[in-house]
Amino acid sequence: MNPSLARTFADDLFAWFESGDNARLVRAFRSPCSGVPHDVAAAYAVVAQHEPLLDAISRLRIAVSATEREALLRFSERVRSIAPQTDIFDLFELQLEPAVASDEPEVAGDFRLAEARTAQAPSSVRARKAHFSASALNAYAECPRKWYFRYVCAAIEDKSSSASTYGTAFHAALEDFHGEFPEPSPALEAEMRTKIVGYVNWAFERFRNEFDTSVEVELQKRRAQRTAQRYIDWLVAESARAPFTVIGREIGANLELDGFDFVGYIDRLDRDNRTGEVAIIDYKTGSIATTPAEYREKVRTFRDFQLPFYYWARTAAGDTVSRLALIPLKDALVDVAPVSVEVGKTITIGELESARARMIEICTQLTSGELTAFPVARDPSACTYCSYANACADRPHEERERFGR
Ligand code: SF4
Repeated sequence: MNPSLARTFADDLFAWFESGDNARLVRAFRSPCSGVPHDVAAAYAVVAQHEPLLDAISRLRIAVSATEREALLRFSERVRSIAPQTDIFDLFELQLEPAVASDEPEVAGDFRLAEARTAQAPSSVRARKAHFSASALNAYAECPRKWYFRYVCAAIEDKSSSASTYGTAFHAALEDFHGEFPEPSPALEAEMRTKIVGYVNWAFERFRNEFDTSVEVELQKRRAQRTAQRYIDWLVAESARAPFTVIGREIGANLELDGFDFVGYIDRLDRDNRTGEVAIIDYKTGSIATTPAEYREKVRTFRDFQLPFYYWARTAAGDTVSRLALIPLKDALVDVAPVSVEVGKTITIGELESARARMIEICTQLTSGELTAFPVARDPSACTYCSYANACADRPHEERERFGR
């Protein structure tokens, strides 16, 4: 062990022992002297930004292999046993490298290059959650590395953005709104237009603290109010074309596929008043496929599992699902034009079955304990809003960035 590394390590541990400074403990923890593998220490260091490191270790906040767990617990146990006279070198069994004899006189500022380290042998990772969701599988399909960061390391995400809070508040407003208007119709247009204003205001008040500033609240609320009026335009036209009743709002979707439990929530479930068939409605406040053909292609190429999952969950519950629709609520300047996929027409049952089979296949892989590597996304656009971009050294770069590197 390099003597200066070992000295810094011991100093950090004593500084923590005397002052309780979590940052010094984390620095010691990340030192090669700690005995904890580098990537495990890096992941726990992220968690330690939010809670004391030793607490995070004793709760085993991040799933790791048995060997890594042992290293973590050994570190924690040693650290807890430190007393004023403890010899840290002894406690951590640090063997110092003998000084290298040299004929050259030492010059101040000289340094010696360290021996190259051999790469750590990859070890397997197993999904630790008992339940799966379509969004977890979507994340895996988009970028296995992102899935690893989010669902295995449980690395801390950035706090919610104003865009995501806009989505949460808008969903809440529509849930309440359809509680009062389960059967929209042209005759109710004026009343619906007035009432939705109140529901949007109330929802944004409830989520006010999630926004960074009150200006942000007002801007996003105005955007939602404009979009809500466009949503009423669509609701009036749609209810005139094919009258329907909202039979479910934010309802749980549970499904067991080959021993794997899936959970999720469906934004809205409609029943066609004339045919009795059911439509699954998903509100979208982010970017989505712009045409039914584009969405179908995402399902066909296993890049989106959300609506197929809802389809199979409701079919298992006994519904005859004839339509799957995404309702875009992002842009206040354009009409609300749902991306509506007719089951058996735009998308075939065979394609939905393939999506279901692929879901089982992915879950089998994730729980096999045989995965040792999680490749990064191939498409750089996946990284644009990725919370882990700063920690992801191998991420793909846009053509223009590559040119500049
Ligand atoms: S930055 Fe890109 S490659 Fe890295 S985890 Fe995120 S999406 Fe995947």
